Amino acid sequence: MSDVFSKLGDSLKSTLKVATEQTQKSVDQVACRTDLMNKRNELKRLFTSLGEAQYKCYVEQVECEERDALYAKIDALKLQITEIEQRLGEIVTTQKSSLDSYKREVKSTWNEPETQEKKADLEEDGIEILKVCPVCNTGNHEYAAYCIKCGNKFE
Ligand SMILES: [Zn+2]
Repeated sequence: MSDVFSKLGDSLKSTLKVATEQTQKSVDQVACRTDLMNKRNELKRLFTSLGEAQYKCYVEQVECEERDALYAKIDALKLQITEIEQRLGEIVTTQKSSLDSYKREVKSTWNEPETQEKKADLEEDGIEILKVCPVCNTGNHEYAAYCIKCGNKFE
């Protein structure tokens, strides 16, 4: 019974740990997404400016001097957006894997006794679950389709 309490303690500790991690990751994720949204809006505005500048130059039939500056700004911004997208991808991946390892941890913490009990049961009346191969006398699982040792097919 005391074992259950120690397991409960471990379980709570890892729940708290994962909750903190998840919260931090969520905060990072929101910050990233906000940043990304702002940068994408800025990119739209730059494209609009580029279009307006080019049209103005077309109407006035002059060389578009603004254009090159806008190209450079757009290039730089696109690079920043790609970097944020990568960082966001990493955050989502690590958040998912930390949640997955937490689930595995909880599963192994709570399923252990069950597995051990089952194992003990099997050892107690192990004879009953065995199917003995008529060819090589090897004990196989009762549902085995083939002998694990010689490969003989069971009927
Ligand atoms: Zn066999």
